[in-house]
Amino acid sequence: MATHCKFCEKNGDFGPCTCGQAELIACAVQASCPECTAAHRFVGKFLSALLKTERAERSNSARQRLLLIFIAAIAAHKSALPNRGRYVFDILRDLDAFRPNEDFRASIREVLRSVPDRIFNGEFAQTLNQKIAEQKVELSLEKLGLVVADISTDQRAAVVEFLGNLVTATAAQPRGEKIRGSYSRSGRRITTLRGRQLGF
Ligand SMILES: [Zn+2]
Ligand SMILES: [Zn+2]
Repeated sequence: MATHCKFCEKNGDFGPCTCGQAELIACAVQASCPECTAAHRFVGKFLSALLKTERAERSNSARQRLLLIFIAAIAAHKSALPNRGRYVFDILRDLDAFRPNEDFRASIREVLRSVPDRIFNGEFAQTLNQKIAEQKVELSLEKLGLVVADISTDQRAAVVEFLGNLVTATAAQPRGEKIRGSYSRSGRRITTLRGRQLGF
């Protein structure tokens, strides 16, 4: 029994990691606290999903989305990488979702081999979760025909709030009647398809 977790340095009588993701995180013989084990489960599932994606045929593919989330999460933790991640970012810069499956998967596995295992702790899982949530908001906004890149940071909060109102308004409609929302710098409107304006 070890006296501290190899991933977050927390003290305690922790045994080898039982997350079931050791093929990707190489943690089976390392002591892991319950939080880090839970983090491995979450991160491992994400990594498996990324590796399982198929070669992209268009720019907005599942592979592209998961790759961008992965790169953003690694970048947020680059101070934990040797040489501030120079080698890892060289690989990631060259990588795109249109590569053949075998190439793409080999590059991701090379990145996983090259980052220290301890990077995949609770903090990393939290970052990953946040990047996934941000992507979901951006995708929803895209569906609304909004170009997120055009929106300044302070406007962004208003857009996200608008999106929340739109979701609430949709849920409140009898028998799921469809509603239409429009957002612009000068104003925003949520109306039913029959043109009734809703008060948001
Ligand atoms: Zn830990
Ligand atoms: Zn583990």
